Amino acid sequence: MSMQCQERHMPLRKRIVFYLLAFLISTVFSPAAAAAAAPAALLKIADPGPALSRSLAAAGAVVVQELNSCLLVYAPLPALPRLRAQGVTFTVIAYPRDNVSFFLLYSEHDAPLFSRKGAIQCRLLEDRIWLCWTTAADFRKNLAPPFRLKALSLSSAPAPAAFAAVPDKESYQIALQAGPLLAGLAAQVAVERLRADILALQNFKTRFASTPQCEAAGDFILGRFRQIGLTAASDPFTFESRYQSKNILAVIPGQVAPELMVLACAHYDSTGNNPLISAPGADDNASGTAAVLEMARILAKERFDFSIGLLCVSAEEWGLYGSAHYADRALRNGDKIIAVINLDMIAYPGDRQRVLDVIGNRQSEWLADLFIAVAQPLVELRLAKVINSSLSWSDHSSFWDRGYAALCGIENSINPYYHRSSDMLDTLDLGFATEAVQASLAVVAALAQPISTPAAPIGLRARSQVSASLFSSLKTVYLEWQANREPVSGYHVFRSDKSHGPYLRLSEQPIVATAFRDSLLLPGQNYYYVLTAVDEQGRESNYSAEVRDDENNR
Ligand SMILES: [Zn+2]
Repeated sequence: MSMQCQERHMPLRKRIVFYLLAFLISTVFSPAAAAAAAPAALLKIADPGPALSRSLAAAGAVVVQELNSCLLVYAPLPALPRLRAQGVTFTVIAYPRDNVSFFLLYSEHDAPLFSRKGAIQCRLLEDRIWLCWTTAADFRKNLAPPFRLKALSLSSAPAPAAFAAVPDKESYQIALQAGPLLAGLAAQVAVERLRADILALQNFKTRFASTPQCEAAGDFILGRFRQIGLTAASDPFTFESRYQSKNILAVIPGQVAPELMVLACAHYDSTGNNPLISAPGADDNASGTAAVLEMARILAKERFDFSIGLLCVSAEEWGLYGSAHYADRALRNGDKIIAVINLDMIAYPGDRQRVLDVIGNRQSEWLADLFIAVAQPLVELRLAKVINSSLSWSDHSSFWDRGYAALCGIENSINPYYHRSSDMLDTLDLGFATEAVQASLAVVAALAQPISTPAAPIGLRARSQVSASLFSSLKTVYLEWQANREPVSGYHVFRSDKSHGPYLRLSEQPIVATAFRDSLLLPGQNYYYVLTAVDEQGRESNYSAEVRDDENNR
């Protein structure tokens, strides 16, 4: 499937005419363009140069959406000449006003709207992907089904490291070291538990966000977490200014660094062609919700270095509102989310193939590689890595937008009952779902690091100093940490120039001291460090939490 930006192959003269026409048409007919005093613009940047993120940051512009072939950028108007002066090529798509809502739309129709007269505007950004904006509350009436919608939040997103180089294939020694333990956890996934929870969720008849039945389903999930013995809470939010729903979060607190969290998530709301009456949503997404509940049941009995969050979100089908609400606050609070595993439709493998797609963006490719390295040996279904930032139609994308690493696990097949009253338990393959849960559970556990002996070191701090001489300047990094409580023979220090490794071990023998100096480093580069402890029997711990070299610089 080609995902190229549409105008890339147009000859120059045609392109000029196209832009002139597009400009005239949008000026005359677009309600957004009528706001001459609009303080900001939405830009499409098809060809991001290497220095783009610096130019955007300097101009106060943010990336709203990363697609395979272009970026959608929100920029204050005074920044436009500055961006142009820095050689950034862009097209202005719209001038947002306060009461206009923006959506990303996926539609397989040539014209996604029933009528051009409706109070919604759409511009094609990429193959089948449109930017739409509207002031109308009932704009969905004018969209030709089926479609996928994502509400865009224009100003809260940080600029992700867009179009970064694809990282090398990596090995994940510590995660793989826990292999037998992970296999033991995966073996506990019970198909009968998945069946019972999918059936219970289907029996709400509809879980369309805004209905009382959806709220009751949220209460059911909260009750299930508490029944398992976890601390859980409901987190209400408002969407599209007038509807209410809630996310449900349960946490298994980490033993070594509880502030670091691995998140498993799934949306529990559903939709269909008559969603107020009937939207059983067994595959979409009672299957993912049941997976999160089953992971909670099994993982709650174990102890991990880092916290595990089990998150069931709502209003995904309206435009990913629940996950955006959660990820927005996480970003504001500076939450340290190591990784997000989102499961959405994991129980309909189709006739021939048994493939679970593992979808990531470029920044999350390390996570997709780790997922497959850890989980593929445990399951027979095939795990297929897909790196495609345009696949933004589920909750993982709310985390991508805010700079977090996230994956979506999803069946690689077309479910003919998708968004219909016939999306029922009896159409599902629970054997396939069981394997999908086993794979995801093993990865969540590996990332959270099952407690090992000796304990992983804590309290690692780093600061760095650049010393310049006449001919060169070099960086020195100073590390210090707390001594383990139990007797250890020493510590190993590891470094990487990328967050999450792969790490290079710097110490030949375990270091007895609780400090380390790493010198002769490049001044313009950031470095990432972790530690392990080695006990008197020579057993090595899990990695400590990672630190960046300049984290404690003043
Ligand atoms: Zn879904």
